[in-house]
Amino acid sequence: MSEKQPDVIIIGGGVAGLSAAQYAARAGLKAHLFEELAPGGLLLNIDILENYPGYDKPISGFELADNLTKQAEQFGVEIHYSGIAGIERNSDGLFVVTTDDGIFTVPAVILATGAKRRELGVPGEIEHQGKGVSYCATCDGPFFKGKRMLVVGGGDSACTEALFLSKLSGDIVIIHRKDRFRAQRSIASNVENNANVEVRFNQTVNEIKGDGHKITSVSLHDIVNNRDYEEEFDAVFIFIGADPRVDLVPDVELDEAGYIVTDELMRTSIPGLFAVGDVRNTPFRQVVTSAADGAVAAHAANEYIDELRGQAYV
Ligand code: NDP
Repeated sequence: MSEKQPDVIIIGGGVAGLSAAQYAARAGLKAHLFEELAPGGLLLNIDILENYPGYDKPISGFELADNLTKQAEQFGVEIHYSGIAGIERNSDGLFVVTTDDGIFTVPAVILATGAKRRELGVPGEIEHQGKGVSYCATCDGPFFKGKRMLVVGGGDSACTEALFLSKLSGDIVIIHRKDRFRAQRSIASNVENNANVEVRFNQTVNEIKGDGHKITSVSLHDIVNNRDYEEEFDAVFIFIGADPRVDLVPDVELDEAGYIVTDELMRTSIPGLFAVGDVRNTPFRQVVTSAADGAVAAHAANEYIDELRGQAYV
C-alpha cells in the first residue's frame, strides 16, 4: 500500500463525520474527511445550541462546527473539500473510493452523509425557518414554553415530538393528512390520550403566516369538509420524514424508512463500512448522539483495520 493512502475515509463533514475523523486521527489512523460544502452539516442551521453538554452558555451551531473542524485538523485529519463519485469494494475487501481529488484505496469507510429532512413546501415555511418554523422540538421547543404550537406529521417523529412539546405547553395541536397516525400504536395512543394535545386528522397546511420575524397564524385545510380556515400559532414543528443520503452504497442493508441498519459499533451489513449520525437508524437524532456515533465508529474501525492487517493486509 502506498504511503499516501489513508487508513480510513470519512464521507460527510457534519458532527458525526468530524467526530469520527478526530477520534480516528487521534487513535493514530491516517484519516481523510470528504465534505463537498462547508464542514458543520446541520449545525450550520442552528442559531443557538443550548443542550450540547459542557457549554453553560448557549453556543451557535456555526461556532461549534468551527471548533470541531479545528480540533479534527489539530489531530491530523486531512479535509478534502470535494465530492465522491463512487465507492467499490475490490477482491481484497478494500474500498476503492473515487473522489474529485483522486482515487483512494482504504480498508475502512465511515459514512456520515446525513439525511435531507423533508419540507412541506408551503408559502411562509422557508422565510420563517428559525423564526417559529422548526424541524426539531428538543432544539427549539423550549423557546416556545407555554405558547400555542402546531405539529405536522403522523409518524413516530411527529408523535414523539408532540409528546415532548406537551410537557412545555398545554396548547399543542397536531395535524395529520390521513385519518389515523402511521406511528407505532403505543406512541400514537399516548398522543391521542394527552390532555395537552389536540389531535386533528385529515388536515393539511396551506400557508404559514408571519411578519418575517415570527409566526402569527397558519392557514389550514380540512380535507373531509373541503374547508380552509386560519388559526393563530406561535410555532410550527414539521416532522414529515427525511431522506437519508445512501446513494453511494446501494448494496447496504436499510430499514423500512430507508436508513442504514447498524449495530452498536456502527457496523453496517458491509464489513469495513460504518455509518454514523442521521444516515443510520438511530432512535434519537441530536448533535450529541451524532458526536457519540462518530467516536464509536472510529474506535470500531480502528479495531477492524488492526484485525484485517493482522490477517493478511499490510
Ligand atoms: P415517517 O416517514 O415514518 O413518517 C412521516 C410522516 O409524515 C407520515 O405520517 C407521512 O404521512 C407524513 N408526511 C410525509 N410527507 C408529508 C407531506 N408532504 N405533508 C404532510 N404529511 C406528510 O418519518 P418519521 O420521521 O416519523 O420516522 C422515521 C423513522 O424513524 C421511522 O422508522 C420511525 O419509526 C423512526 N423513529 C422512531 C422513533 C421511536 O421509536 N421512538 C422516534 C422517531 C422516529 P403518511 O402517513 O400519509 O405517509
